[in-house]
Amino acid sequence: MKKRLPVLALAALLAACSTTNKLEGVPAIADHNVKYDNYFTANTMRYDFHHAGDSNNEYYYFDKLIREGEWAGSRTSLINPFDYGEQHFRIIDAASGNVIYKNNYCTLFNEWQTTPEAEATSRSFPEGVIFPEPKNDFIIEFYARNKKSKKWEKKFTQDIKVNDFNIYPSHTPYESFDIHIGGDIAHSLDLVLLPDGFTVAEKERFIEACRMWTDALFSYAPFTQNKHRINIRAVWAPSMESGISVPGKGEWKNTLLECRFFTFNSDRYQMTEEFQKVRDVAACAPYESIFILTHTDKYGGGGIYNFYGLGSAGKTGKTGEVYIHEFGHSLMGLGDEYIEKGNTVSALYPEGVEPWEANLTRLVDFNGKWEKKIAADTPVPTTISEGTDKADWKIGAYEGGGYLEKGVYRGWPECMMKALTDFCPVCQEAISRYLDYICK
Ligand SMILES: [Zn+2]
Repeated sequence: MKKRLPVLALAALLAACSTTNKLEGVPAIADHNVKYDNYFTANTMRYDFHHAGDSNNEYYYFDKLIREGEWAGSRTSLINPFDYGEQHFRIIDAASGNVIYKNNYCTLFNEWQTTPEAEATSRSFPEGVIFPEPKNDFIIEFYARNKKSKKWEKKFTQDIKVNDFNIYPSHTPYESFDIHIGGDIAHSLDLVLLPDGFTVAEKERFIEACRMWTDALFSYAPFTQNKHRINIRAVWAPSMESGISVPGKGEWKNTLLECRFFTFNSDRYQMTEEFQKVRDVAACAPYESIFILTHTDKYGGGGIYNFYGLGSAGKTGKTGEVYIHEFGHSLMGLGDEYIEKGNTVSALYPEGVEPWEANLTRLVDFNGKWEKKIAADTPVPTTISEGTDKADWKIGAYEGGGYLEKGVYRGWPECMMKALTDFCPVCQEAISRYLDYICK
């Protein structure tokens, strides 16, 4: 969930967190083979809420329901089988009690919980989830992982009547346009690119940035091979002022999505806390996954699983690689494979608990990951001597990853999730598997 820029020395997240206020255990999802047309309309429903608490507690407060446009997700893959993320939600058909939709995600609130501020005060963050609009009355349930055991706990539940006149219609005041259409909406990954800090006069600059982002994405495997099932659209939503806020330098800009550097006081961590505004703008195009392009040359960005990714639109240095690194986080929650020197303890990756990220392991429950890809004569842990030719690199378990020097292992010496190079074979396979699911 902590998805930030590689290489940079950012504050180590050492705070130990635990969650309370759990309601009951976590029921397993029976395989009902949910038929989309039996349960859902062709549209999207959005549930907005506030996620609040401190380092030890989290609470959910209902805000509003909104009926949005065409459902851009799969009509077959309705129960996310990947155990990724720090959060998940379920939609339950009230009449039958069947789970008819489930999706996993992470949030900025979860990251904030690991900051010193969360030790001292409480805060709330606006959040929202989307799902296909149920035809009949339903129940929504929210689950969060216990920060120590990483086991799921049920946190919140609400009954929803679909004929409730308080359900809002959506407003879509901004134009959208296609950047790349690979396939039909139900069988493709539908990405939406959103601008922040571009004024009315800077539309062409944003369109150019969208093209650059798309070219960067398709220059990396396995996205290159999956162009035919990826759609990229953009929404043109201008800001009042040009540029992005840099609070640590006293620079504030009036921008539509309120993106800013110095998120949680980390200079290069560029995010927005206004997630419902992000969803408002994203709803102007059919979408599953959001990426925000900010009008700045300054190095920085972020990406949170099934929440959103963000990168600077500018051309400085490693812009393209940063986009794609952050997209690895926001698309499917790939973990950072880099090491923060001297870092030996992390609340994110507690000892003895297998990380949920597909590309990191503590060798606790390695079985379902890339263990079977390691050749019998490759030792685990795996080491590689400096200067070994890339052609001789082998899939293994290389120590160091998830910001830690010891105890967490990655599958390949280098990776986009480590040093902004190509995705390693482990990540490539995990992304392909995830795309297979989304595009079913
Ligand atoms: Zn990797």
